[in-house]
Amino acid sequence: MGENKYTCPGCGSKNVRQMSKFNVICTLLIIAGLFFLVGYLYLKFLWIGTALFLLFAFVSLFNRGMLRCTDCDRAWKME
Ligand SMILES: [Zn+2]
Repeated sequence: MGENKYTCPGCGSKNVRQMSKFNVICTLLIIAGLFFLVGYLYLKFLWIGTALFLLFAFVSLFNRGMLRCTDCDRAWKME
């Protein structure tokens, strides 16, 4: 616990956090849901946004995780 093998490529800090894939996918699904709701109530073409964010969520499933530096807020893909 506490050991971190990742180093920030921007500032060299070891305060690097792995971003949870689950959170990212949940956020994308919620946004997709909002687009669907607004599209349903007002503008049907907003469903394009729903499809887009569902696609992002789907792609995220196969993406490697992201890392974020808590010192300089830089984010990058895990090697
Ligand atoms: Zn950094």
